[in-house]
Amino acid sequence: MIFEKELTVAISAVQKASRICKMVSESSSAISSVQKEDHSPVSIADLASQALITLALRDYYPGDPIVGEEEAKTIQQHEHFGNKVLDLIQKETPTLNLETLLEIMDYGSKSFDSNKRFWTVDPIDGTKGFLRGDQFAVALALLEQGQVVLGVLGCPNMAINSIESQNRGVLLYAVKGHGAFMMHLNGQNTQKVFVDSISKVTMARFCESVEINHASHDQHQKIADALGITASPCRMDSQVKYAALARGQASIYLRLPRKKDYREKIWDHAAGSIIVEEAGGKVTDFKGNPLQFNLGKNLENNIGILATNKHLHTQVLEAIAEVI
Ligand code: AMP
Ligand code: MG
Repeated sequence: MIFEKELTVAISAVQKASRICKMVSESSSAISSVQKEDHSPVSIADLASQALITLALRDYYPGDPIVGEEEAKTIQQHEHFGNKVLDLIQKETPTLNLETLLEIMDYGSKSFDSNKRFWTVDPIDGTKGFLRGDQFAVALALLEQGQVVLGVLGCPNMAINSIESQNRGVLLYAVKGHGAFMMHLNGQNTQKVFVDSISKVTMARFCESVEINHASHDQHQKIADALGITASPCRMDSQVKYAALARGQASIYLRLPRKKDYREKIWDHAAGSIIVEEAGGKVTDFKGNPLQFNLGKNLENNIGILATNKHLHTQVLEAIAEVI
Protein backbone atom coordinates (compact mmCIF):
# COMPACT_ATOMS: atom_id res chain seq x y z
CA MET A 1 0.00 0.00 0.00
CA ILE A 2 1.18 3.52 -0.81
CA PHE A 3 2.20 5.49 2.32
CA GLU A 4 2.51 2.25 4.30
CA LYS A 5 5.76 3.32 5.99
CA GLU A 6 4.43 6.82 6.66
CA LEU A 7 1.35 5.26 8.28
CA THR A 8 3.44 3.03 10.56
CA VAL A 9 5.60 5.97 11.63
CA ALA A 10 2.57 8.25 12.15
CA ILE A 11 0.61 5.70 14.19
CA SER A 12 3.58 4.99 16.43
CA ALA A 13 4.20 8.74 16.96
CA VAL A 14 0.55 9.39 17.83
CA GLN A 15 0.49 6.42 20.22
CA LYS A 16 3.57 7.71 22.03
CA ALA A 17 2.19 11.26 22.27
CA SER A 18 -1.24 10.00 23.40
CA ARG A 19 0.40 7.99 26.19
CA ILE A 20 2.19 11.07 27.52
CA CYS A 21 -1.04 13.14 27.37
CA LYS A 22 -2.97 10.43 29.20
CA MET A 23 -0.25 10.14 31.82
CA VAL A 24 -0.33 13.91 32.45
CA SER A 25 -4.13 13.94 32.68
CA GLU A 26 -4.09 11.07 35.18
CA SER A 27 -1.28 12.49 37.33
CA SER A 28 -2.32 13.68 40.75
CA SER A 29 -0.84 17.18 40.40
CA ALA A 30 -2.60 20.03 38.58
CA ILE A 31 -1.69 20.23 34.89
CA SER A 32 0.66 23.14 34.26
CA SER A 33 -0.87 25.44 31.62
CA VAL A 34 -0.52 29.06 30.43
CA GLN A 35 -2.45 31.34 28.07
CA LYS A 36 -1.15 31.98 24.58
CA GLU A 37 -1.38 35.39 22.85
CA ASP A 38 -4.79 34.43 21.43
CA HIS A 39 -5.94 33.67 25.03
CA SER A 40 -6.28 29.95 24.34
CA PRO A 41 -4.68 27.62 26.90
CA VAL A 42 -1.62 25.49 26.28
CA SER A 43 -0.32 22.86 28.69
CA ILE A 44 3.02 21.11 29.13
CA ALA A 45 1.39 18.07 27.53
CA ASP A 46 0.58 19.99 24.29
CA LEU A 47 4.23 20.95 23.91
CA ALA A 48 5.61 17.53 24.88
CA SER A 49 3.19 15.82 22.49
CA GLN A 50 4.23 18.02 19.55
CA ALA A 51 7.93 17.57 20.35
CA LEU A 52 7.59 13.76 20.48
CA ILE A 53 5.71 13.61 17.20
CA THR A 54 8.21 15.93 15.52
CA LEU A 55 11.17 13.86 16.77
CA ALA A 56 9.57 10.67 15.46
CA LEU A 57 8.78 12.11 12.02
CA ARG A 58 12.12 13.89 11.69
CA ASP A 59 14.02 10.63 12.15
CA TYR A 60 12.38 9.10 9.08
CA TYR A 61 11.50 12.14 6.97
CA PRO A 62 14.03 14.90 7.72
CA GLY A 63 13.04 16.84 4.60
CA ASP A 64 9.33 17.09 5.42
CA PRO A 65 8.09 20.34 7.05
CA ILE A 66 5.99 19.73 10.16
CA VAL A 67 3.36 22.39 10.69
CA GLY A 68 2.18 22.24 14.27
CA GLU A 69 -0.19 24.28 16.36
CA GLU A 70 2.42 24.96 19.04
CA GLU A 71 5.46 27.20 18.68
CA ALA A 72 8.85 27.56 20.38
CA LYS A 73 7.93 31.07 21.51
CA THR A 74 5.50 29.69 24.12
CA ILE A 75 8.47 28.06 25.84
CA GLN A 76 10.64 31.17 25.39
CA GLN A 77 7.93 33.37 26.94
CA HIS A 78 7.33 31.04 29.93
CA GLU A 79 10.75 29.86 31.01
CA HIS A 80 9.58 27.48 33.74
CA PHE A 81 7.65 25.62 31.06
CA GLY A 82 10.72 24.43 29.17
CA ASN A 83 12.07 22.29 31.98
CA LYS A 84 8.67 20.77 32.75
CA VAL A 85 8.23 19.82 29.10
CA LEU A 86 11.76 18.38 29.00
CA ASP A 87 11.01 16.30 32.11
CA LEU A 88 8.03 14.79 30.31
CA ILE A 89 9.81 14.12 27.03
CA GLN A 90 12.88 12.70 28.75
CA LYS A 91 10.76 9.75 29.86
CA GLU A 92 10.79 8.76 26.15
CA THR A 93 13.91 10.60 24.90
CA PRO A 94 16.45 10.98 27.74
CA THR A 95 19.07 12.93 25.78
CA LEU A 96 16.93 15.88 24.61
CA ASN A 97 18.04 19.34 25.77
CA LEU A 98 16.33 22.75 25.79
CA GLU A 99 18.14 24.00 22.70
CA THR A 100 16.99 21.04 20.60
CA LEU A 101 13.49 21.28 22.07
CA LEU A 102 13.19 24.90 20.89
CA GLU A 103 14.55 23.97 17.48
CA ILE A 104 12.09 21.13 16.91
CA MET A 105 9.05 23.11 18.11
CA ASP A 106 9.29 25.19 14.91
CA TYR A 107 10.56 22.39 12.70
CA GLY A 108 10.03 23.47 9.13
CA SER A 109 6.81 25.32 9.83
CA LYS A 110 8.08 28.92 9.51
CA SER A 111 8.18 28.78 5.72
CA PHE A 112 6.51 25.81 4.12
CA ASP A 113 4.95 25.40 0.71
CA SER A 114 1.43 24.11 1.24
CA ASN A 115 1.32 22.89 -2.35
CA LYS A 116 4.17 20.47 -1.61
CA ARG A 117 4.43 17.58 0.85
CA PHE A 118 4.15 18.44 4.58
CA TRP A 119 2.74 17.13 7.84
CA THR A 120 0.36 18.99 10.10
CA VAL A 121 -0.07 18.21 13.77
CA ASP A 122 -2.39 19.31 16.53
CA PRO A 123 -0.62 17.79 19.54
CA ILE A 124 -3.69 18.20 21.73
CA ASP A 125 -6.76 19.19 19.81
CA GLY A 126 -9.32 20.38 22.34
CA THR A 127 -6.92 21.52 25.08
CA LYS A 128 -9.91 22.90 27.00
CA GLY A 129 -11.49 19.45 26.97
CA PHE A 130 -8.17 17.92 28.00
CA LEU A 131 -7.90 20.28 30.99
CA ARG A 132 -11.50 19.46 31.99
CA GLY A 133 -10.83 15.71 31.76
CA ASP A 134 -13.15 15.41 28.74
CA GLN A 135 -12.46 14.51 25.11
CA PHE A 136 -9.33 15.55 23.24
CA ALA A 137 -7.40 14.20 20.26
CA VAL A 138 -3.81 13.94 19.09
CA ALA A 139 -4.15 14.73 15.38
CA LEU A 140 -1.58 14.12 12.65
CA ALA A 141 -1.99 14.31 8.87
CA LEU A 142 0.20 14.14 5.79
CA LEU A 143 -0.60 16.41 2.84
CA GLU A 144 0.65 16.37 -0.73
CA GLN A 145 -0.21 18.98 -3.36
CA GLY A 146 -2.91 20.42 -1.11
CA GLN A 147 -4.64 17.07 -0.55
CA VAL A 148 -4.78 15.19 2.73
CA VAL A 149 -3.40 11.73 1.96
CA LEU A 150 -3.13 10.22 5.45
CA GLY A 151 -4.66 11.01 8.83
CA VAL A 152 -4.29 9.62 12.35
CA LEU A 153 -6.38 10.58 15.39
CA GLY A 154 -5.43 9.39 18.86
CA CYS A 155 -8.46 9.68 21.15
CA PRO A 156 -7.36 8.63 24.67
CA ASN A 157 -10.70 9.38 26.34
CA MET A 158 -13.01 7.99 23.65
CA ALA A 159 -14.88 4.83 24.67
CA ILE A 160 -13.89 1.71 22.74
CA ASN A 161 -17.55 1.14 21.96
CA SER A 162 -20.97 1.95 23.38
CA ILE A 163 -21.10 -1.30 25.35
CA GLU A 164 -17.68 -1.03 26.99
CA SER A 165 -18.10 2.66 27.80
CA GLN A 166 -15.63 2.54 30.72
CA ASN A 167 -12.95 1.07 28.49
CA ARG A 168 -11.33 4.09 26.84
CA GLY A 169 -8.63 4.92 24.33
CA VAL A 170 -8.91 4.46 20.56
CA LEU A 171 -6.93 5.42 17.50
CA LEU A 172 -8.45 5.99 14.07
CA TYR A 173 -6.51 6.24 10.82
CA ALA A 174 -7.05 6.49 7.09
CA VAL A 175 -4.99 6.56 3.91
CA LYS A 176 -6.58 8.06 0.81
CA GLY A 177 -8.40 5.38 -1.14
CA HIS A 178 -7.92 2.65 1.46
CA GLY A 179 -10.77 3.11 3.95
CA ALA A 180 -10.80 4.17 7.59
CA PHE A 181 -9.83 1.99 10.52
CA MET A 182 -10.03 2.04 14.28
CA MET A 183 -8.05 0.16 16.90
CA HIS A 184 -7.42 0.29 20.61
CA LEU A 185 -4.81 2.88 21.45
CA ASN A 186 -2.38 0.06 22.28
CA GLY A 187 -2.65 -1.25 18.71
CA GLN A 188 -4.99 -4.19 19.25
CA ASN A 189 -8.31 -5.06 17.60
CA THR A 190 -8.09 -3.21 14.30
CA GLN A 191 -11.39 -2.96 12.46
CA LYS A 192 -12.73 -1.02 9.50
CA VAL A 193 -15.16 1.77 10.35
CA PHE A 194 -18.09 3.16 8.39
CA VAL A 195 -20.38 6.15 8.75
CA ASP A 196 -24.01 5.30 9.52
CA SER A 197 -26.55 4.72 6.77
CA ILE A 198 -29.28 7.07 7.99
CA SER A 199 -31.02 8.72 5.07
CA LYS A 200 -34.06 10.09 6.89
CA VAL A 201 -32.76 13.35 8.30
CA THR A 202 -35.28 13.53 11.15
CA MET A 203 -33.61 10.40 12.56
CA ALA A 204 -30.16 12.03 12.53
CA ARG A 205 -28.09 13.17 15.48
CA PHE A 206 -25.64 16.05 15.03
CA CYS A 207 -22.53 16.90 16.96
CA GLU A 208 -20.90 20.23 17.74
CA SER A 209 -18.21 21.80 19.96
CA VAL A 210 -18.63 22.01 23.71
CA GLU A 211 -17.06 25.47 23.72
CA ILE A 212 -19.66 28.11 22.96
CA ASN A 213 -16.96 30.45 21.58
CA HIS A 214 -15.79 27.91 19.00
CA ALA A 215 -19.11 27.43 17.24
CA SER A 216 -22.52 29.02 17.03
CA HIS A 217 -24.81 26.64 18.90
CA ASP A 218 -27.87 28.81 18.22
CA GLN A 219 -27.31 28.77 14.43
CA HIS A 220 -26.75 25.01 14.54
CA GLN A 221 -30.04 24.60 16.39
CA LYS A 222 -31.84 26.64 13.73
CA ILE A 223 -30.44 24.33 11.04
CA ALA A 224 -31.47 21.26 13.04
CA ASP A 225 -34.97 22.71 13.56
CA ALA A 226 -35.32 23.40 9.82
CA LEU A 227 -34.43 19.75 9.17
CA GLY A 228 -36.83 18.44 11.82
CA ILE A 229 -34.05 16.90 13.91
CA THR A 230 -35.34 16.31 17.43
CA ALA A 231 -32.41 14.52 19.10
CA SER A 232 -30.37 16.83 21.32
CA PRO A 233 -26.91 17.72 19.99
CA CYS A 234 -23.98 15.58 20.96
CA ARG A 235 -21.36 18.00 22.32
CA MET A 236 -17.76 16.87 22.26
CA ASP A 237 -14.41 18.62 22.22
CA SER A 238 -11.89 18.25 19.40
CA GLN A 239 -11.76 16.04 16.31
CA VAL A 240 -13.29 13.25 18.36
CA LYS A 241 -16.45 14.59 16.61
CA TYR A 242 -15.02 13.41 13.28
CA ALA A 243 -14.16 10.08 14.93
CA ALA A 244 -17.74 9.74 16.22
CA LEU A 245 -19.08 10.39 12.71
CA ALA A 246 -16.64 7.94 11.11
CA ARG A 247 -17.83 5.12 13.34
CA GLY A 248 -21.52 5.89 12.94
CA GLN A 249 -22.27 7.45 16.35
CA ALA A 250 -23.56 10.67 14.78
CA SER A 251 -24.64 11.52 11.24
CA ILE A 252 -23.81 15.24 11.05
CA TYR A 253 -21.07 17.53 12.39
CA LEU A 254 -21.85 21.26 12.26
CA ARG A 255 -19.26 23.96 12.92
CA LEU A 256 -20.13 27.55 12.13
CA PRO A 257 -17.65 29.92 13.84
CA ARG A 258 -19.19 32.48 16.14
CA LYS A 259 -16.88 35.20 14.84
CA LYS A 260 -17.28 35.96 11.12
CA ASP A 261 -13.58 36.64 10.62
CA TYR A 262 -12.39 33.40 12.27
CA ARG A 263 -10.62 31.05 9.89
CA GLU A 264 -10.32 27.37 10.77
CA LYS A 265 -6.82 25.94 11.18
CA ILE A 266 -5.65 23.12 8.89
CA TRP A 267 -4.54 20.95 11.86
CA ASP A 268 -8.07 21.07 13.32
CA HIS A 269 -9.55 19.36 10.23
CA ALA A 270 -6.94 17.54 8.11
CA ALA A 271 -6.84 14.21 9.98
CA GLY A 272 -10.54 14.20 10.93
CA SER A 273 -11.77 15.00 7.43
CA ILE A 274 -9.87 12.20 5.66
CA ILE A 275 -11.02 9.69 8.29
CA VAL A 276 -14.68 10.66 7.76
CA GLU A 277 -14.33 10.61 3.97
CA GLU A 278 -12.60 7.23 3.98
CA ALA A 279 -15.37 5.91 6.26
CA GLY A 280 -17.85 6.85 3.52
CA GLY A 281 -18.79 10.36 4.64
CA LYS A 282 -18.48 13.80 3.09
CA VAL A 283 -16.80 17.00 4.36
CA THR A 284 -17.26 20.48 2.88
CA ASP A 285 -17.72 24.05 4.03
CA PHE A 286 -21.18 25.57 4.58
CA LYS A 287 -21.47 26.38 0.86
CA GLY A 288 -20.66 22.82 -0.17
CA ASN A 289 -17.11 23.63 -1.32
CA PRO A 290 -14.25 21.23 -0.55
CA LEU A 291 -11.85 22.25 2.23
CA GLN A 292 -8.81 23.95 0.65
CA PHE A 293 -5.69 22.84 2.48
CA ASN A 294 -3.18 24.59 0.17
CA LEU A 295 -3.51 28.17 1.42
CA GLY A 296 -1.16 28.13 4.41
CA LYS A 297 -2.08 27.40 8.01
CA ASN A 298 -5.70 28.56 7.67
CA LEU A 299 -8.62 27.30 5.62
CA GLU A 300 -8.80 30.83 4.17
CA ASN A 301 -11.56 30.15 1.65
CA ASN A 302 -13.86 27.99 3.77
CA ILE A 303 -16.46 29.28 6.19
CA GLY A 304 -18.40 26.80 8.28
CA ILE A 305 -17.55 23.08 8.30
CA LEU A 306 -20.13 20.43 7.46
CA ALA A 307 -19.35 16.73 7.78
CA THR A 308 -22.06 14.14 7.18
CA ASN A 309 -22.59 10.48 6.42
CA LYS A 310 -22.88 11.67 2.75
CA HIS A 311 -26.54 10.60 2.36
CA LEU A 312 -27.70 13.71 4.23
CA HIS A 313 -25.19 16.19 2.83
CA THR A 314 -27.33 17.90 0.17
CA GLN A 315 -30.30 18.18 2.49
CA VAL A 316 -28.23 19.78 5.25
CA LEU A 317 -26.64 22.21 2.77
CA GLU A 318 -30.11 23.24 1.63
CA ALA A 319 -31.17 23.89 5.22
CA ILE A 320 -27.99 25.90 5.81
CA ALA A 321 -28.70 28.04 2.73
CA GLU A 322 -32.24 28.63 3.97
CA VAL A 323 -31.33 29.48 7.58
CA ILE A 324 -28.02 31.35 7.34
P1 AMP B 1 -13.45 22.08 19.42
O1 AMP B 1 -13.05 21.35 20.63
O2 AMP B 1 -14.07 21.26 18.35
O3 AMP B 1 -14.23 23.30 19.71
O4 AMP B 1 -12.12 22.54 18.70
C1 AMP B 1 -10.97 22.93 19.33
C2 AMP B 1 -10.25 23.85 18.38
O5 AMP B 1 -11.00 25.04 18.19
C3 AMP B 1 -8.91 24.33 18.86
O6 AMP B 1 -7.87 23.49 18.46
C4 AMP B 1 -8.76 25.70 18.22
O7 AMP B 1 -7.84 25.70 17.15
C5 AMP B 1 -10.13 26.00 17.66
N1 AMP B 1 -10.60 27.35 18.01
C6 AMP B 1 -10.05 28.23 18.86
N2 AMP B 1 -10.76 29.37 18.88
C7 AMP B 1 -11.76 29.22 18.01
C8 AMP B 1 -12.83 30.07 17.57
N3 AMP B 1 -12.98 31.30 18.06
N4 AMP B 1 -13.70 29.58 16.67
C9 AMP B 1 -13.55 28.33 16.18
N5 AMP B 1 -12.57 27.49 16.55
C10 AMP B 1 -11.68 27.92 17.46
MG1 MG C 1 -7.01 22.09 17.73
